[in-house]
Amino acid sequence: MTATLITGGFLYPADAEGQVVPAGAVLVDGDRITAAGPAADVERLAPRDGLRVVDARGKMILPGFVNPHWHELFALRLPFKGALRPSHDREDEPAFMALGGDLSRISLAFDAFTGRIDQLTPDEAVAIARYSMWTQLRSGVTTLGDVGSVNRPEALVQAARDLGMRCVVSTWASDAVCPPGESRFRRTRDADVVLRRIEALLDACAADRSGLIRARPTAVYGTNMTDELGGGLAELVSRFDVPFATHVGALRNESEAMQAYFGATPVQRFADLGLLSPRFMAVHCAFADDRERKLLVDADVHVSTSPAKYGPAGESTLTETRMIPELRRAGLDVSLSTDGAALPVGGMAEAMRTTWQLFTEMYADPTEVLPTDALAMATRIAARGLDWDREIGSLEPGKQADLVLIPADDWRYLLNPRPLEGFLALGGSNDIDTVMVGGEIVVEAGRATAHDEAELEAHYLEALESFSVRCLGIAPDVVAAVTRRPPGRSGRPGGRADDPAER
Ligand SMILES: [Zn+2]
Repeated sequence: MTATLITGGFLYPADAEGQVVPAGAVLVDGDRITAAGPAADVERLAPRDGLRVVDARGKMILPGFVNPHWHELFALRLPFKGALRPSHDREDEPAFMALGGDLSRISLAFDAFTGRIDQLTPDEAVAIARYSMWTQLRSGVTTLGDVGSVNRPEALVQAARDLGMRCVVSTWASDAVCPPGESRFRRTRDADVVLRRIEALLDACAADRSGLIRARPTAVYGTNMTDELGGGLAELVSRFDVPFATHVGALRNESEAMQAYFGATPVQRFADLGLLSPRFMAVHCAFADDRERKLLVDADVHVSTSPAKYGPAGESTLTETRMIPELRRAGLDVSLSTDGAALPVGGMAEAMRTTWQLFTEMYADPTEVLPTDALAMATRIAARGLDWDREIGSLEPGKQADLVLIPADDWRYLLNPRPLEGFLALGGSNDIDTVMVGGEIVVEAGRATAHDEAELEAHYLEALESFSVRCLGIAPDVVAAVTRRPPGRSGRPGGRADDPAER
């Protein structure tokens, strides 16, 4: 492989010191960074022969975003009134995550996802995963952390390899529900069956030689986990020496429901099962009593928050308790993530913006989260939550060459000596220009280098149509009415997305 010099850009390495290098460069040999710093210093180290030069003048050079809490859910774009919603919003009502959460309904919906996954054909699964993961890659995410998807993990593995991005895959692990009006959880499947799936996945991914794929056990939610499942997951975490993730303390009504159906508060239960440790990624984690907070801090867990998603989902995860910023103040790692939905939710750029704006507002202190803190939470700290930080998460010699270039030379940045600040104020996912993973440029000028995006989209819509009709029972004409767009729009009959006016 040839060496690549990315030079002349405003470099944010996201290292522990939070350095910024206004005229910076990164030198890449094969898949690894060999130098990063002031352009004049780095250029001196570049080989003369076979050097590929990427001109980054007028752009920021950032580490690739690491999104450690995400779900592939694009198969569900039509139900739950997703794509089938009316265009007007005046009759919207709060859905089941809203107003503190309807935990019974949530547990039933989550448990039903298991059957949906089995109904996807392998081809549908890959087509949906590829398009879904492409939207993340195009938004600057070079590493995804699955916390359970309505898709087959092997399809996520295939899609990650096809797209050339990294993914920590998992399974959708649910073996219980909390039926409304009852006082005890109900088992829905054998915990051993659920455990065998994740064990097989851990075995398969341990043999991965691409460097792109890892696996970790996850539990979707305490409401959907028997003690047998939780204990088995703890055993796998220890035996395979891998991190673990779950949604916990995410909703106001969760603790009451957990006590009613399982006889213990949410965090306490994970502690009792032997899962609380620095390997534990507590997703959302806003509602816990004082004793549970102490358990989280003493165990040095990792917390991941998805701030760009909460408001529209009806979740009051940050401002109601302030627990997540308080856990960060107490010294815990807090990373940013997007979570997942059937339609694209705010990306990592939007998560950084929301964190920068909201945490600072909560404390009336603009230094509570600096722009470079928000960047670290979306890169290096997030990589630590996946236990992948020795390889990725910052632009430092020896690490994998995963980076993004973002133009920073228009009206938003004029005379601003801090382009990251301008980007957090006015930029977003669609501004990502170039994405490199392990030294390979996979997105250039906002377009895939190795894939026809119109084709990715067309294959997704075909898979969505067949799955929605066959498995969700949505009438073919209803499905066709929303998926078959008029000619001239990107990706559908009559139109390709290569017209700049359509970008
Ligand atoms: Zn989630």
